[in-house]
Amino acid sequence: MRRIKALFVTGVLLMFGAAAMASEAEIVVLPIDRAKFLAGQRFDLEVEFRGASANEIGLLIDGRDASEFFGKEPVVKKSGTLSSFRFNDVALTKAGEITAEAKAKVGGKEYVKSVRYTVVPPQEQKARNVILFIGDGMGLASRQIARILSKGVTEGKYDGLLEMELLQDGTALINTSGYDSLVTDSANSASAYATGHKSVVNAMGVYENSDPDPLTHPKVENITELVKRARGMSVGLVTTSNITDATPAAMVAHTRRRAEQNFIAGEMAKADVILGGGSQQFLPRSVAGSKRADDRDLIEEFKAEGYAFAANRAGLAAAKGERVLGLFGLDNMNVYLDREILKDPEVLGGFTDQPTLMEMTKHAIDILSKNENGFFLMVEGACIDKQLHSMDWERSAYDTIEFDKAIGVAREFAANDGSTLIITTADHSHGISILGTYHERDGKTGREAVRTYAESIFPTFSDSNGDGFPENPAPDVTLAIGYANHPDYYEDFKFHAKPVSPAIMSGDVAVGNTARAPRGALYIGNIPANESSEVHTADDVPLSAAGPGADYFRGVMDNTEVFFGIVRALGIDPAQK
Ligand SMILES: [Zn+2]
Repeated sequence: MRRIKALFVTGVLLMFGAAAMASEAEIVVLPIDRAKFLAGQRFDLEVEFRGASANEIGLLIDGRDASEFFGKEPVVKKSGTLSSFRFNDVALTKAGEITAEAKAKVGGKEYVKSVRYTVVPPQEQKARNVILFIGDGMGLASRQIARILSKGVTEGKYDGLLEMELLQDGTALINTSGYDSLVTDSANSASAYATGHKSVVNAMGVYENSDPDPLTHPKVENITELVKRARGMSVGLVTTSNITDATPAAMVAHTRRRAEQNFIAGEMAKADVILGGGSQQFLPRSVAGSKRADDRDLIEEFKAEGYAFAANRAGLAAAKGERVLGLFGLDNMNVYLDREILKDPEVLGGFTDQPTLMEMTKHAIDILSKNENGFFLMVEGACIDKQLHSMDWERSAYDTIEFDKAIGVAREFAANDGSTLIITTADHSHGISILGTYHERDGKTGREAVRTYAESIFPTFSDSNGDGFPENPAPDVTLAIGYANHPDYYEDFKFHAKPVSPAIMSGDVAVGNTARAPRGALYIGNIPANESSEVHTADDVPLSAAGPGADYFRGVMDNTEVFFGIVRALGIDPAQK
């Protein structure tokens, strides 16, 4: 590592030591070009000069030296052919357009990189509370499948709409891409909702710099931090996944790697109500099932911070107070079909008393709504996505219905409260489509029994007790579902009573799992052979909203706009204490 020989601030330029040349050099400014900020939202501004050792590097903001502009000095780093400087925890307080121009010199050559930022002013408050429902991986087809199963369709007319389809004050299509790639993962996309900034696959609450340490990348203030800092609101996170998984994690944490789940578990203390799976990240390593690398007992630490703790449905009902931590499984919770209908003890693995997403949502709202400053609650239907990765559309559909009924709980609250914005969207889509229906009434099987066009008679799901969930996930006439992006797998268009993965790894290659459909046909994969599950797509996802501020959502929008719709509705002004 080259020592910095001298660091002078002369005008706008920070002076480094002797230059070393490399053929390809570039300046990277983070946040990236066209980033948008809420005025006063805090972030780290970093300039990296990559590929050569610069002898001069500097930054102007609207023509002014950045140190003068922010009233503080940057942290300067130099290592090999990387030079960087960073202003930690700064904010752009004036609304409008801003230009940041970075310059570096190597020998006689000058490099310049300009970025433009948009700063939007705080708005007048419209809503006291915001509830953001994220159906993980819930594309348009997932919503429609849930509607068909839950509400039915007669002579081509739907027999009812989903709760999420009754949110009709704002409707938009959301573009889910990150800034690195067309197809996002859940961390990256949830991060856009939480911060208003796009990020990269596997990252949350940060822009990506060159540092291999995932916890040091330049941060952007997220919705949890903002609503607490600016208004003292309460925050709740509810999910059916491991609570430290990408979507809930992105509401509180800043890391380049979503896999840092032990770190993320500690960050959960930024929220007041935390309900989901994932005790494996909270239990000390000495306890069976723990995934911690240390002896910290986070459940005890949270209790010491005033959290009531619940480990099952009965415990949740009894967990009162302002702060609750509920962890209802070691990892992801079971899906609705397994938890509430099939109840196969082998599948449940001892967790036989898990609450539903409706119960968790209700409990969270009951607690959070006691704060007169309002609350932000994120509720995730996590396994809509996970079951589509497993190409198990029935399990995914039941979880979509469960997610929808949780939205019903929120709608009921909002109807009485009158000051709550409800937003429902997904973080990305999956490549599923409704091909038609499937039945074997005439003895045909497999693809010959996939009924298209005039043959696609209506499915025979029935919900005789009216709870919204069909009693039988495998009726006489069911849906024929196709997957656009999949590994080699065997398909017989039948429901699987036990979850079974579509493909299994054989060395570096995923091969179709014959246990999935022993008499089914082999469908040749159309994604790289080392991928054993169905994968996300870049398709836009629908957003539906209702309540004060929902009018913000219209047309086609970037995922980052969900954040701006939330802070606009709440009238969050980061400059206010
Ligand atoms: Zn996924």
